Amino acid sequence: MAHLIFKDVNKVYPNGYHAVHDFNMEINDGEFICLVGDSGCGKSTTLRMIAGLEDITSGEFYIDGVLANQTSSRDRGIAMVFQSYALYPHLTVYENLGFGLTLEGVDADLIDEKVRQTAKILGLTEYLERFPRNLSGGQCQRVAVGRALIRKVNIFLMDEPLSNLDAKQRVTMRSEIKQIHRSIGATTIYVTHDQTEAMTMSDRIVVMKSGGYVQQIGTPYELYFHPCNLFVAGFIGEPPMNFIKGKVENASVKVGDKSVDLTPVVDDVKAIEGREVVFAFRPEAVKLPSEVAGDHYVIESTVDLTELLGDTTNVYANVDGANVILKVNPHHTPEIGGKFAFCVPYSAAYVYDCETELAVKSSVKRH
Ligand code: ADP
Repeated sequence: MAHLIFKDVNKVYPNGYHAVHDFNMEINDGEFICLVGDSGCGKSTTLRMIAGLEDITSGEFYIDGVLANQTSSRDRGIAMVFQSYALYPHLTVYENLGFGLTLEGVDADLIDEKVRQTAKILGLTEYLERFPRNLSGGQCQRVAVGRALIRKVNIFLMDEPLSNLDAKQRVTMRSEIKQIHRSIGATTIYVTHDQTEAMTMSDRIVVMKSGGYVQQIGTPYELYFHPCNLFVAGFIGEPPMNFIKGKVENASVKVGDKSVDLTPVVDDVKAIEGREVVFAFRPEAVKLPSEVAGDHYVIESTVDLTELLGDTTNVYANVDGANVILKVNPHHTPEIGGKFAFCVPYSAAYVYDCETELAVKSSVKRH
């Protein structure tokens, strides 16, 4: 296991492109961290700097308290799994797993022991004599993970390792990777553009935005319930959070034909008087008037489309022209084209400042 510290780490590529800006973070021994964000936001660059495959342009990177900026990749105690896992097609699973050790000239008995041990952790024992063409995508990915794991490492790096798998295999591999992490305990840094992967696997998530800017670092719970700015609010959660823009007048903002009093959901409403804000709430947080409990807003909408998913219905509606998505009880699916009143509990309402894009301070208890 390893403890990592990043202090003002920056990456500027030789062509002058500034891919990562002032990355600051401390990663604890054995943590599972996801770097998440849209394509091109600097996730792989950050991972490659950790691996020693890219130079750090400025700033400091420590492994277990030792400055590691100049440490060679080989001496960092890392293993890495990439998106394209390219197994050797003419070698069996056994040979694929042992290949690196064979190259290093490790004794055959020791290789055998390690291959069998790794195969056991990954549930590959019964496939050891098979060739990659006779394995499923998920099994191939497990062999790729095994190849990386077979060497004792303290830091495990994964760059979109599941993106070549279909949706079902991805879900299975997600929990397998978590289990592997639990059993080997290596500090793991995992890159993905998929917020669901990040939410389900991580101890903590780093949300990055294009240009290489870290937006928020926190547990899945913190990011879901306390997104610090509009970007994170819109990025975490599926379907995304609903945003309705308006100007604060008399402590209220217009949401459709209603004036919504912000006093109960922000700490200092006077501080935002006259400002453009976004009133926000998650699709899954809305309630029907018949099922709501506690203090709440009632918002009127017009239904554009409904999708029955089984456990819920997605309602695509508009609030005076602003498009929203609402997840509602499927037994109360509203009529397309009709009016639909829904409730947003105070505990689920967020306010963001349009200019700074930051959350307006709120001590409302989220649950
Ligand atoms: P992500 O992993 O989030 O998709 P990357 O870290 O791969 O993003 O890339 C971040 C940005 O840096 C992108 O705009 C990419 O085009 C740019 N970039 C990556 N590698 C290089 C390079 N060798 N030279 C110049 N720019 C690069």
